Amino acid sequence: MSILCPRCRSSNVYRDDRYRVSGMVAGGAGGAAAGFSGIGIGAAAGAAIGSVVPVLGSAIGAITGGLLGAVSGGLSGAALGHGVGHAMDNKHNRHLYRCRRCGKLFAF
Ligand SMILES: [Zn+2]
Repeated sequence: MSILCPRCRSSNVYRDDRYRVSGMVAGGAGGAAAGFSGIGIGAAAGAAIGSVVPVLGSAIGAITGGLLGAVSGGLSGAALGHGVGHAMDNKHNRHLYRCRRCGKLFAF
């Protein structure tokens, strides 16, 4: 099966996954930011655990809590962005293609 450009009938086309990629990047960045904003929660939890070993434990707990929040937030955000972007790339179960010859973007 070869896909032809609807404008110039060229078979020199390629899948365009830009929405998926940009969705994943945006979701990952947004999720990481949201995770970092939860640093207070992570710090509180870390401090509670770290209270067994005062000062040092609190500091380590705060850092660990913030990092965990950022990493988990980034991962879930990326997964969400990937899902949304994937849905945009596959409207009506079709893929987006771009023609290398004339640059036309079309769904097939
Ligand atoms: Zn074309």
